Amino acid sequence: MTIRASDAQVCRVCGSRMEHTFADLGMIPLCQKYIEIQDLDRGETFYPLRARVCMQCFYVGLPEYVRAEDIFTEYAYFSSYSDSWTKYIAASVEQFVDEFSLGPSSQVVEMGSNDGYLLQFFVARGIPALGVEPAANVAKIANAKGVPTLAKFFNLQTAATLKEEGKSADLLLAYNCLDHVPDLNDVVAGMKILLKPRGVIQVEFPYLRSMVEGNQFDTIYHDRFSYFSFLAAHHVFTHNGLRVFDIERIPLHGGSLRLRACHADDSTHPVQSSVARLLADEEVCGMKSPEYYTMFMRQITATKHNLLDCLVRLKRDGRSIVGYGAPAKGNVLLNYCGIRSDFIDYLVDRSPYKCGKYAPGTQLPIRDVEQIRITRPEYLFILPWNIKNEIVEQMSYLREWGGKFLVAIPEIEIL
Ligand SMILES: [Zn+2]
Repeated sequence: MTIRASDAQVCRVCGSRMEHTFADLGMIPLCQKYIEIQDLDRGETFYPLRARVCMQCFYVGLPEYVRAEDIFTEYAYFSSYSDSWTKYIAASVEQFVDEFSLGPSSQVVEMGSNDGYLLQFFVARGIPALGVEPAANVAKIANAKGVPTLAKFFNLQTAATLKEEGKSADLLLAYNCLDHVPDLNDVVAGMKILLKPRGVIQVEFPYLRSMVEGNQFDTIYHDRFSYFSFLAAHHVFTHNGLRVFDIERIPLHGGSLRLRACHADDSTHPVQSSVARLLADEEVCGMKSPEYYTMFMRQITATKHNLLDCLVRLKRDGRSIVGYGAPAKGNVLLNYCGIRSDFIDYLVDRSPYKCGKYAPGTQLPIRDVEQIRITRPEYLFILPWNIKNEIVEQMSYLREWGGKFLVAIPEIEIL
């Protein structure tokens, strides 16, 4: 692992120095680095997790404490495992095919294509699709499923090579990965190169405003370098010769933005009123003033105090608590608050990749969900709060023995 302190203070969008803290979550290990049993006594590397804000352009980002190459070579998140996400993806592919009249002569490219969970729906319809996915283990799974996938980082160089090989995109997708790239301008410049003259880029990423309003500080982690307002995202695309022609707030992942862009000189996609409306709206809600960013840390600290207060009371009453899910955000929350086996007996997760391993930092064991029926915990602490309702429904049998659900984000809640 390489610590990169040299670029710690430079804004990825405008190049100014970033001197103001947005969120400081202390020292935390990489939240996707699940531990094998034989490695429990080997120690873990902890890195600062401190997001800063640029007061010139209001871009919020983390320094590249750990190089992206070191994080993404083996990545534990297989997105296919969430039911609601898979349903959403299948429906959105239908929409693309109709809206852009995609067929056998079209080309769809997705950066950060994961295990092919999205592109498989295009492949099934006979529409040529290509994934670009940096995690080699994940790309291998996609290829085995019949989704052609390059095990590479998407950047200017990758895009130029594909273009030389005669590939260019009618539809270029990037779902929840633009926030993971350290060299933002290089990647967006690559998108422009790969896009056909009348092609469309659709990008989705978590929305900074939803994060602040929803108190979602646990979605800050070392491999998410950027936390976008529309203001900042709009600037990045415009700066790279692209034109944002549509923007929409969507409820996914706690609140995201869906941005559509085309070449700056492509007149086939007129700019929708949504663009000016959201930019104005961000100004009205204070996103162009420093206080909007500097007040977030007070909110984070208050949540930690309230959560620990609740857990201490439960433990003093002799209650048993099990954590549901071992997602990245859960690992950040548990580490930031210092919640280990002193509060939680174990975690459960539906992903076979995580079961049998241990959570980073807290070293809590991750077990199969069925374990809950056996040990009958009195409280189930739901860590992936974004799918809270789905989990409460799936795990309703907890009520058989009087069990309750606990959620910490946006605020402490017992269900
Ligand atoms: Zn800046």
